[in-house]
Amino acid sequence: MKNKILVTGGAGYIGSHTCIALHEAGYDIVVYDNLSNSSREAINRVSTLIGQSIEFIKGDTRDAEMLKQIFVAHQFFAVIHFAGLKAVGESVAKPLLYYNNNVSGSITLLEVMAEYNVKNLIFSSSATVYGDPETLPIDENSKRSCTNPYGQSKLAVEHILEDLSVSDQSWNLISLRYFNPVGSHPSGQIGEDPNDIPNNLMPYISQVAVGKLEKLSIFGNDYPTVDGTGVRDFIHVTDLAQGHVSALNYLEQQASSKSSSDTTSSVGFLPINLGTGKGTSVLELVSTFAKVSKQPIPYQFVARRAGDVASCYASADKAKALLGWQAKLSITDMCQDTWHWQSMNPNGYNET
Ligand code: NAD
Ligand code: UDP
Repeated sequence: MKNKILVTGGAGYIGSHTCIALHEAGYDIVVYDNLSNSSREAINRVSTLIGQSIEFIKGDTRDAEMLKQIFVAHQFFAVIHFAGLKAVGESVAKPLLYYNNNVSGSITLLEVMAEYNVKNLIFSSSATVYGDPETLPIDENSKRSCTNPYGQSKLAVEHILEDLSVSDQSWNLISLRYFNPVGSHPSGQIGEDPNDIPNNLMPYISQVAVGKLEKLSIFGNDYPTVDGTGVRDFIHVTDLAQGHVSALNYLEQQASSKSSSDTTSSVGFLPINLGTGKGTSVLELVSTFAKVSKQPIPYQFVARRAGDVASCYASADKAKALLGWQAKLSITDMCQDTWHWQSMNPNGYNET
């Protein structure tokens, strides 16, 4: 058995897929999630898929006492920190909730990690920290700026991690900046299950395809892009999950290459993009989805959505050079697997 990993937010969309990848790579995992945006059923299904039960603890990252109990009971090599709220619109309406949950939750977690001398962290950051990019593709040295409380909360945590790495060089802090995660596990058993009407494009398209929503509204067809619609770097969630395994391997290599007397870190704060490096327009995604699902996707063009940028895609070179990771799956794979999940589970996890 390899090292033990604490996965906060492991019942969520990306976390549940990463639990499978971690298990397949031989890691022992403990999932910690308050189920504020997920269901216990996701963990049950992950357990079925991997053929063994997962250790799940219901709890909040802001609850220091509960975290301490877990750190006393387990010797973790690292924490993968997915737990957070992620709806941009909601963050504008409820900024205190977002700062409290995402920033205070991360600080509390880091304090407990420090107390128990667990200093390896992989943090879920986002391409949103780049705001409206000055150049494309976006590399990790690009200027960071955010326009909404969700993005600000991610940026704030990145600043905290940077300051922490300066204050104490024994921390190893990887900030993975995800581009647009979509798709599902190929089994169709787990996937993205938005609570309400989806804000994001792919779950919206798939709910139109399955007949739950009538028509997609495409926000803007006058952007300076290939067809006037927004361009994004969609990445399959199983590729993304694999990126976390590669990041953990990197932390392990760094840990084993250090002599035992060396208390300084060779990692510090390390931001890494996880994207494919390729941009796809909204219309291109819609037409691929329609082809794969053999369902009509009615749409209408409406005004641009406030805060949206025209194009956003990653330079994925750093992930390849440092982690040896690159995305493998295509837009067709992403649509196929999303459709598989959506058509098998039209009401998400609620149906069972
Ligand atoms: P998700 O909502 O499906 O998963 C997040 C999980 O964290 C949920 O299970 C939720 O119940 C849990 N959670 C939230 N606050 C918590 C708290 N205080 N204590 C314990 N558990 C808590 O979201 P996701 O899409 O899987 O995203 C995972 C992470 O990646 C988030 O931090 C998100 O901001 C980030 N991210 C997501 C995307 C995306 O498009 N999905 C893009 C970039 C970054
Ligand atoms: N989009 C759209 N209709 C929707 C949801 C999204 O046209 O119902 C567009 C949006 O304007 C953007 C792209 O799809 O150009 C991706 O949006 P999403 O919210 O999925 O991701 P993000 O904005 O975070 O990149």
